[in-house]
Amino acid sequence: MAKRLFISSEKMLYHIPPSAHAERPERLKALLKLELPEDFYKIEDFAPVTDQDILQVHNPAHLEYIQQASAKGQQMLDEGDTYGSPGSLEAAYIAAGAGIAAANKVFTEGYDSVFCAVRPPGHHAERNRVMGFCYLSNLAIAVRYAQRKGYIKRAAIIDWDVHHGNGTQDIFYDDNSVLFFSIHQMPLWPGTGYASETGEGAGEGYTVNIPVKPGTTGEVYTAILREQIIPRITEFRPDCLFISAGFDAHEDDPLAQVSLTEADYAEMTVMLKSCADSLSIPVISVLEGGYNLTALAGSVKAHLGKL
Ligand SMILES: [Zn+2]
Repeated sequence: MAKRLFISSEKMLYHIPPSAHAERPERLKALLKLELPEDFYKIEDFAPVTDQDILQVHNPAHLEYIQQASAKGQQMLDEGDTYGSPGSLEAAYIAAGAGIAAANKVFTEGYDSVFCAVRPPGHHAERNRVMGFCYLSNLAIAVRYAQRKGYIKRAAIIDWDVHHGNGTQDIFYDDNSVLFFSIHQMPLWPGTGYASETGEGAGEGYTVNIPVKPGTTGEVYTAILREQIIPRITEFRPDCLFISAGFDAHEDDPLAQVSLTEADYAEMTVMLKSCADSLSIPVISVLEGGYNLTALAGSVKAHLGKL
């Protein structure tokens, strides 16, 4: 019997925008009230990330910046996307802590699949840069933690958020122990993620960017998974499969123009889960974007149903 887990915490509701903003507490509220599939366990009480684990991924200057911004009550941490509020820093520490809790649950208690419903999201945060609603690279911190604990050597990351996972790419760009895929709309913010960005040094060839046009449908996504991503993962033989699970490629999302549906997210999950099963490895999925509340809740529900 598969063991599946949903990790979240209401503490992440206290990251509150100073004015109307797409990345708002209601996103998490919509997921906290989801009825989970019957066999899902749920945990809401887990430790925040430690500074030591943050520093495996981010520069000391980055950590200092977000701590000082919080201490000063800074309402904007970049040029206009990433806001701060009294509860923001704690929420960011909890969001990254969820990935660490997921790694511990998977590798010490035998869970097969975990979904982390977290905010602020993480995949735009670079080694030394707050960016695109993101403070800390939640998923990258979980990967590094799992490596440092000796749980895994190699990780594969599939980022299907509609925006390029520039932060994750930045963190693992020269690393051949992490195979990183990003499928994203282009043109679209942040403007990076060309197919020609493939890694550097030892990491050359371990970053795979797959930009798609506005209007792209699920058939194209599943073909990309079948033809480009899954064969490469199978060849790479990772010890864990991570999903940077943004749901803003949904057709109703206000921030982009890709045309996925709940059924497409279910199908993509089936494909990646069966790839993981064929390698006998677990799946850790971490929420990124998704800004239409109905589409987000429906897509996460479809994702959980197949995880
Ligand atoms: Zn996004």
